[in-house]
Amino acid sequence: MSKLVVVGTVAFDAIETPFGKTDKILGGAATYIGLSASNFNVDAALVSVVGGDFPQEHLDLLTGKNLDISGVEIVEDGKTFFWSGKYHNDMNSRDTLVTELNVLEHFNPVVPESYKDAEIVMLGNLHPLVQQGVLDQMNAKPKLAILDTMNFWMDIALDDLLNVIKNVDVITINDEEARQLTGEYSLVVAARKIHTMGPKYVVIKKGEHGALLFHDDNVFYAPALPLEEVFDPTGAGDTFAGGFAGYIAKTGDTSFENMKNAVIYGSTLASFCVEKFGTERMESLTREEVNKRLQQFKDLTQFDIKLT
Ligand code: AMP
Repeated sequence: MSKLVVVGTVAFDAIETPFGKTDKILGGAATYIGLSASNFNVDAALVSVVGGDFPQEHLDLLTGKNLDISGVEIVEDGKTFFWSGKYHNDMNSRDTLVTELNVLEHFNPVVPESYKDAEIVMLGNLHPLVQQGVLDQMNAKPKLAILDTMNFWMDIALDDLLNVIKNVDVITINDEEARQLTGEYSLVVAARKIHTMGPKYVVIKKGEHGALLFHDDNVFYAPALPLEEVFDPTGAGDTFAGGFAGYIAKTGDTSFENMKNAVIYGSTLASFCVEKFGTERMESLTREEVNKRLQQFKDLTQFDIKLT
């Protein structure tokens, strides 16, 4: 089993979907990634920052999932990062209503000493300079560095983002972001372009249409499980990334073949995340539920055709 370092936001979110609206609830990329990765019982540490307004119960939730939060700085006189978003009726697209960086504005990440030798590093959505700052603190180049990002950082810090992208092995990105990053509409062409930017592996998330994994000329596709109810897609992308990174950390195997399974785990865990508002569903998830859904995934995608 490998150690896992996760950097990303720990946040307050206010979410509006066609099914309802929340006040400020627990959110953030690192939160979702951590909760998702915790399903693999790996030794994982979160690196992030919150303000003095962040409730102890949220921190307790993370430690209750065996996540090391010694790298989560608390700025007593600061305010926690706040994001608010509103989903359209199709639940696949959303508008960002508010992004308040707050304590994130002057954040210098500190990787706990005992995690500087972690083999797997998951650079969750956050300023690319902070992502690079975490990579720089590792004792050696990690066995696998995975990066997730979003259009917000492409808009305000593209050069910094391109610099950190050069230094990672895997990028997970959604379809619209892949198009924005490369200027290419075709996802196959976009993935090829992203390969030339650095990452040997490119995962393109397509929301309810699943995810694609590219490596050189190899492509693997995992559908999303068709769900009766999608309540709130917030955090699905991060949950996917957490499942992917957690599975790789658990198995210690960074081959393309094993990454296929990591994609399946990511999709499976993300399918739970969207069933309730915020982190609620991920908080109560059991191993049995995950296994049952993995079986459903197998049934959904297995067929036996004889080539004549
Ligand atoms: P996802 O739905 O997977 O894209 O992730 C949603 C989460 O990302 C929310 O919990 C937000 O707190 C967080 N988030 C939103 N905007 C940003 C941003 N610009 N940087 C980092 N995290 C963000």
